[in-house]
Amino acid sequence: MSSSIFKAHILTLFPELFPGPMGHSITGRALSEGKWSCTATDIRDFATDKRKTVDDTPYGGGAGMVMRADVVAEAIEHAKKETPNAPVVFMTPTGTPFNQGMANRWAAGEGVILLCGHYEGIDQRVLDALVDEEVSIGDYVLTGGEIAVYPVLDATIRQLPGVLGNDETLAEESFSPALEGLLEYPHYTRPEEWRGQTVPEVLKSGHHAKIDAWRKEQSIAKTQKVRPELLKKK
Ligand code: SAM
Repeated sequence: MSSSIFKAHILTLFPELFPGPMGHSITGRALSEGKWSCTATDIRDFATDKRKTVDDTPYGGGAGMVMRADVVAEAIEHAKKETPNAPVVFMTPTGTPFNQGMANRWAAGEGVILLCGHYEGIDQRVLDALVDEEVSIGDYVLTGGEIAVYPVLDATIRQLPGVLGNDETLAEESFSPALEGLLEYPHYTRPEEWRGQTVPEVLKSGHHAKIDAWRKEQSIAKTQKVRPELLKKK
């Protein structure tokens, strides 16, 4: 295997959940073609007692359990041996909202180490000492970081060179520079008429400049309707 392969390393209590959905479709094909590698390491392997304990009660009291700094640190340091320059990213609802820019930035590097919390979360000291970025997938609380890794990793892998068959697909996607960071325009295919609805005439005209102008208009209108803050960013 070449050292230039993008390495995704997930630190989790449930390694059997990976590659999960990324083992299918485009990302799955890229995985079997060696365009990226997926390692899921069980944080529990780094527990030191007989019962393989990874968590303990919170200082200060309160509900739930907290994952121990010493156990999580060993897991992170194990992953960093293989990819010392990959960012260590903790999945957490208190993190920065995930976006396409993060996926693009990580895809340009040697890999990414994704740390999944469980229970109430992870002892703050190990986050302060060893985590580079904290990322949220939205304003809601999931049971664990594993499900949050799926969208983050999928969005990153599809940015790797050669993963998508047609470069155009990547170029003209929502949030891409080609669409000036806006949402994508609508798509149509056969049949030409479906339940009384026809395809917009301009798309059948063969006039590329007019098609581009129509798509841009649609892209702006859609963004204005559902994500007006994206237009203000421009
Ligand atoms: N006590 C935490 C809080 O209130 O912020 C929630 C902990 S949650 C039950 C357990 C783990 O799920 C977190 O440590 C994190 O890894 C993951 N998680 C939950 N929601 C997430 C989200 N929106 N984005 C990313 N990770 C999330």
